[in-house]
Amino acid sequence: MSVWAILVAAGRGERLGLDRPKAFAKLGDEPLLAEPLRRLEACAWVDGVVLVAPPGWEEPAILLAEEEGCGKVHACVTGGETRSDSVRAGLEEVPADALVVLIHDAARPLVSDEVVERVLAPLSEGWDGVVPGLPVGDTLKRVGSDGGVQETVPRDGLWAIQTTQAFAAEALRRAQASGGEATDCAGLVEAAGGRIKVVEGDPHLLKVTSEADLETVAAWR
Ligand code: C5P
Repeated sequence: MSVWAILVAAGRGERLGLDRPKAFAKLGDEPLLAEPLRRLEACAWVDGVVLVAPPGWEEPAILLAEEEGCGKVHACVTGGETRSDSVRAGLEEVPADALVVLIHDAARPLVSDEVVERVLAPLSEGWDGVVPGLPVGDTLKRVGSDGGVQETVPRDGLWAIQTTQAFAAEALRRAQASGGEATDCAGLVEAAGGRIKVVEGDPHLLKVTSEADLETVAAWR
């Protein structure tokens, strides 16, 4: 079974307010992107990696992959306007004979072998995709633009979904070809009628959106 990973790192990361994309924000004393690159390289389940870089940052991304000795990185492509566009660009570089495609957000630097193993296992039971998640612990309210609460949303059965996400390559290609938009790839596969399973995620897969998140993730490494 050949397993390819698409590492999407093309987000602008505007909320961090830096002069560079989030993938090149400093995590400790190195670019954030170095961490997931190294971890995917070391992951025994992963055969090849396609790196999706921010427009204009392809060369620094390739250089970083080389510096980190990431021989599994077979291609580096330019990301698109939306996350789905970036995944689509990455998928074009995944070899046609790959059976499984993993999608990982570079913004979640601490990708782990355990989570990769957990999302890969159910694919052999016929699921089209498997995603890691954590049950929602907080009370959820829908809030209007004036700050007023409109409703309290029952949280039973609600999970916060992370990456790494795993897909049968064929199911992901079919869903991507439909050209839709979703905040994660599983959403596209669901919309195309695919069956998605949720497995236990990892709090350490925090998505970096603020300076404080960078410090938290750096301390967890
Ligand atoms: O924007 P969001 O926080 O959902 O981004 C999640 C991941 O998708 C990040 O790793 C980001 O670099 C990537 N992304 C991308 N291309 C975009 C938008 C986001 O590769 N156009």
